[in-house]
Parts: sequence; structure tokens; C-alpha cells
Amino acid sequence: MAKNKVDIEQLIEMDKKHFLHPTSAISDQQQFGPAFIFKKGKGIYLEDVNGKKLIDGMSSLWNVNVGHGRKKLAKAARKQMEKLAYSSCFATFSHEPAIYLAKKLAELTPHPLTATFFTSGGSEANETAYKLARHYWLLKGKPFKKKIISRKKSYHGVSIGATSATGLKEFRAFTKSLAPDFYFVNQFDTTALERFIEAEGPETIAAFISEPVQGAGGVHVAPENYFKEIREICTKYEILFITDEVITGFGRTGKWFGIEHYGVAPDMMCFAKGITSGYAQLGGVMISEELHHELIELSKGPLLHGYTYSGHPTACAVALKNIEMIEKEGLVKNARIRGEELLEGLNKLKKERKIVKAVRGLGLMAALDFKDEHKQKNVLFSPLVFKEAASRGLICRAVTLDGQDVIVLAPPLIINKKQIRKIVQILNDAIKAVENAHFH
Ligand code: PMP
Repeated sequence: MAKNKVDIEQLIEMDKKHFLHPTSAISDQQQFGPAFIFKKGKGIYLEDVNGKKLIDGMSSLWNVNVGHGRKKLAKAARKQMEKLAYSSCFATFSHEPAIYLAKKLAELTPHPLTATFFTSGGSEANETAYKLARHYWLLKGKPFKKKIISRKKSYHGVSIGATSATGLKEFRAFTKSLAPDFYFVNQFDTTALERFIEAEGPETIAAFISEPVQGAGGVHVAPENYFKEIREICTKYEILFITDEVITGFGRTGKWFGIEHYGVAPDMMCFAKGITSGYAQLGGVMISEELHHELIELSKGPLLHGYTYSGHPTACAVALKNIEMIEKEGLVKNARIRGEELLEGLNKLKKERKIVKAVRGLGLMAALDFKDEHKQKNVLFSPLVFKEAASRGLICRAVTLDGQDVIVLAPPLIINKKQIRKIVQILNDAIKAVENAHFH
């Protein structure tokens, strides 16, 4: 383990030589090395090998909901690993952690979602949802119902299907070779969606997928009636409605699941991240009771889809403990209250900082938008704010994809009022520094 400056320099060199970082600028890595090599975490804080402490204002990747260093989760993992670290769930094999977790999820989720297919993460969950949707229509004797409609600025993961459904165009341009039958409509335009369905023919469309709050695309919150209209359109044209709750699930928005804010029920729901607070790799898709019954009735052969780690016992045991902690510690309610405080703080900040043009959020997902709709500007402020904030001890994220200039935040759900104030203070100082450098 790195102890002194020499060790740290070696780590940096090894990182540059051997480690391809996900979603990273490969040339920057070679030039600058990793910005932080984290060593430990406690509560909302991360600490790097130099002993620098930072507020994890993104819950790392929107996932460390119960915060860092939670011994109860380590204990749950250890207990399960010692008893049964792994066994398969294929075909007729099963085990207790997966069964208990599937049952718990059925109790937690918006009412008609009753059965779960487990995966290792969010991309696999999305992949599974598209395949299940298409398989379902095949069983129903509608082989042409295979198109998936997604939304611009959405993010659904990086496997081929999930990339093909991702509306952030830079991700699709990465290989320019995508899976067929994926289409996009504007974010909140239900009229355009209906027109699109009519033009393509509903008999060719399997499903519509959307995040309840677009996360990686810049925290875009849907208008109040949006999902009600989506639900009506999907029902009218016999299209399955899939919500991708990979970020919004497990309390992030101030309700257990983001779609609950809109009072509608999806046919399928993808989840990952917050189900284990990142302490183990787990995701999945839940399907409605109606869909489940139909699959049971119509199925002829085996469900030929499954991952080695579908229902990993250790990950399921961690998830069960994590959900119990979210419940016992009242973290869903805390996310709602702290989220309101965060939004209030950011709105005050907006009045003081002239480069901030808009503030938005729901629960503990928030965004500061620097884009000026009226003026062309040739500087992207968000990467500069990111740097200034990090140097002051706050990790946030800059979103510059799809022509945007946004800082997003998603702190752990255990955060308190004082820590929220601290985040807003650091951001204000960081933005002020960027303004001073830019305007003087
Ligand atoms: N869907 C959404 C909404 C996400 O935000 C993400 C990850 N950020 C994914 C899917 C993909 O999940 P994973 O990275 O676990 O494959």
C-alpha cells in the first residue's frame, strides 16, 4: 500500500501504463495521471493517498446511497461469503438471499411489479429489459413488435443494446456501429412520441424506455403530467413502458422509486446502483404481475437469457442489509428534506453567481446549468467549476455532452443539513473563482 511520495509516484506510473479507465480521456490520463487515487471512505467523505479529504458530492457514481465505510454491509457480505459465497440461479437452482431479495423488492416497488430478473449492473438490466420485451411480443405472436423508443439525452449504459438506447449522442458515436431497432424522441414531447408511433406503426414497437429523472444527461426532471401521458400512450398502442431507475431507485429522489412522483406504474423497471449502495455489483429488472402471468402462460421453452452473476448470493445479501439500513435510518425521507434544502441553497447561489442560468433537481439529484439560451458563449464553465470545487474539497460532476454545460450533484442520502450548506458554500466559492478568472 502507498505510504510515501515514492510509492504514490509509482502508483501513478502503473496507472498510466496498465489501467484503461472507464469513460475517461485517455490522452489526459497519459499527460496528467489520475487526479485522485482514493484510499478510504467514511460517511460522505472520500480520502485519497495524499490524505486529502473530499465530500463525495456524487455518491461516487450516484450509487453510494448509505455513505462510505458502513461496517454492517461489510459484515453482511462476510457472513454470506463464509456461508455460501456463490452458487448458480440457472434453471432450477436457487438460494435464500435471491429469494428473500426478490420478495422484498416486490413489497417495496410500485404495486404491480412482482417478479425480478437479477443482473450485475445497470447496462445488463437494460439489455435484459429489451430482450424480455421482444421475447414477450414473440410469444404473443407479434414478431414485428421489436422497436425500442428511447429519449434524447438519456443514458442507459454501455453494452451494445444499452448504448443503442442511449440518447447522449457521443456515446453512440463511439463506435458508430449499433444494434438495430432503437429510436429517439425529444425528452418531454408526448405529442411527438404519439406521432412517431403512428408513423412507424404501433405493431412494430415493443417498448418505450425512460429514466424518471434523466441523470447522466444532466438531471432533467420531467413535467408533472409527462409520465401520466406516457402511460396512457403506451397502454393505448400496446407498448411496454420501461422505467430505468438505475439512478433514481432506492430513495435517491425522496421516494423509493422515481416514478412514484408521477403516480403511474411501469410494466418493467430496471435498477442497479443504490440497491447495494455500491458495496456489491447488482442490478435487475422487475416485471409486472400481469406480464409475469402472461410469460408463465405463453412460455414454451426455457428463458434463454442469464448471467453467471444473476442473483449473486453475496450481492443479494448486501442488498437486503442495505435496504434494511435505508428503511431503519429513514433515508428516503432524509433525501426528500435534504434535497429541498439543496435546491433552496442552489437557487440562492444562482442569484449571486451570474454565470448560473438555471437550477433544477428532485430529491438528492441536482443540477446547475451554465448554458445561456440567449447568448453563444465559447467557454465551457462546468469543467472549470469541477476543478475549482475539487481543489476546495468537493466532488461534483461536469456534464458537457450533447452541447450542455452543467454541474450535477447527487450526495449520499445520509447527508445532514450542515453538510448540504457546506456543499453549496464550496460551489459558490468555486463558481466565484471561475467568474473572477473569466471576467477580469
Ligand atoms: N441506466 C442509467 C439510468 C444509468 O445512470 C446507468 C449508469 N450510470 C446505467 C443504466 C448503466 O449502469 P451500469 O454502469 O451499472 O452498467
